[in-house]
Amino acid sequence: DAVVHWFKTDLRTADNHALSCASQKAREAGVTLITMYLVSPQDLEAHVVAPVRVDFVLRSLRILRDDLAKLDIPLYVETVEERRQIPARIAELMESWGASHLYANMEYEVDELRREAKLVRMLAEKGMCMEIIHDTCVVPPGQLRTGAGKQYAVYTPWFRSWMAHLRKEPGLLELGEPPVRNPESARRTFGHVFDSEIPVAVSNKTLADEDAVRLRALWPAGEHEAKKRLDAFCKQRIGHYDRKRNFPAEAATSSLSVHLASGTLSARTAVRTARDRSAGGEGTQTWISEVAWRDFYKHVLVNWPYICMNKPFKPEYSNITWSYDEAHFAAWCEGRTGYPIVDAAMRQLQDMGWMHNRCRMIVASFLSKDLLIDWRMGERFFMEHLIDGDFASNNGGWGFSASVGVDPQPYFRIFNPRLQSEKFDKDGDYIRKWVPELRGIKSSAIHEPYARGAGALAKKNGYPEPVVDHSAARERALTAYKEGIESG
Ligand code: FAD
Repeated sequence: DAVVHWFKTDLRTADNHALSCASQKAREAGVTLITMYLVSPQDLEAHVVAPVRVDFVLRSLRILRDDLAKLDIPLYVETVEERRQIPARIAELMESWGASHLYANMEYEVDELRREAKLVRMLAEKGMCMEIIHDTCVVPPGQLRTGAGKQYAVYTPWFRSWMAHLRKEPGLLELGEPPVRNPESARRTFGHVFDSEIPVAVSNKTLADEDAVRLRALWPAGEHEAKKRLDAFCKQRIGHYDRKRNFPAEAATSSLSVHLASGTLSARTAVRTARDRSAGGEGTQTWISEVAWRDFYKHVLVNWPYICMNKPFKPEYSNITWSYDEAHFAAWCEGRTGYPIVDAAMRQLQDMGWMHNRCRMIVASFLSKDLLIDWRMGERFFMEHLIDGDFASNNGGWGFSASVGVDPQPYFRIFNPRLQSEKFDKDGDYIRKWVPELRGIKSSAIHEPYARGAGALAKKNGYPEPVVDHSAARERALTAYKEGIESG
């Protein structure tokens, strides 16, 4: 007999609500706790998961398996090619293990909710039961309402309400119970489950060898690494986070997004640790408010699920006539737009599988406003390359930058890439790091080499001229947005 925990985007033993509940249930019933993870290549394809993220997940699974084995808890891993087969396969596995209960943390995206509903029905037909638990957000969706009883569509009042809720319910930040050791009989009865193999790669999501070496060194996987990074960040950098977080040349942010996205770190533990271990102050407050953005976008997803279906949050922005200029899109993807800050950022993404937040906003604004390219192409390209790709945060970030999302700012606030560059990469260090063609430019001409007398050097090194003129592009975007809204 057994109780099962199904790992998804919660790849940790510490502070994992559904895993704690499953462990407790197994102990009370005197049965074995089995854990499982299913790899679905079709699902990875459909959700445009980046190969670098898949690799991170597989590496984290190996660490998780070893940690669980120390408690005599097996981690069963299987590849299920077709995603619609997942519920039936889980029901089959549960039956073969003689399991009564399945536990899992809730994922709020529409496909996942449908899958879980099907699973609940299938298990019920066979006399088994599924418990779906809130875990991924610090404050579970559905708990915060405006004074008028509505869902929040603006971050600032939502954040005030989020903070007030945490003061009222401090238990929400408490560390969850770790899983307990399985009975001795577990290995005898479920030896074959302990023996399941974790694939080294998934066929349609393989990293090139040279990338794998670099990226694995850059992004060590697993929950112990997450904890180490979190502790180091709280000790060394959180104090000046508020002052330095916007400058991409500084390593001033936590780089914990990959761990929060794969669940090798819980958002609760991130916030609790920041509160307890750092000296407090503005830096800590600001960091907690950034982690809260992650909760915010998941709440938005729950409240307005149509954003999962390629629709803008603001329906009146559905009729904008976007450009699908292939040459412009390729220039953006490859970091050859002739706007140094944009190109530096896109090359950072291609190289690291990660991009600084300020730069994510700059390049997203550039694609959707200066190039007037459908923001959904940028959203997709980000998912294809980000190690921290997360639907809600990515969709939220793109919606914000393209002015089609949950943001009260009007569309006519358009980033000027040169001014952004001068403000946030004043000395050009970030540009020099990522755009070798411009390394020789030591002056402020680095922000727009062709307009400030450094064109000859840029040209000699093969750096392109700007693909569009910002002022003209701005006017074009204003007209297209205005016409789109008026025709809606
Ligand atoms: P820190 O500054 O240390 O912040 C701590 C944590 O707070 C992050 O790890 C993240 O979990 C959360 N966070 C911070 N800012 C945001 C934000 N604006 N929205 C949501 N969560 C936030 N973040 C993702 O995790 N996955 C994505 O796919 C993603 N796509 C984005 C796309 C665009 C266009 C934009 C503008 C932002 C996107 N972000 C995304 C948010 C943000 O850029 C990253 O979370 C952040 O850069 C990660 O670096 P860090 O861990 O060092 O962040």
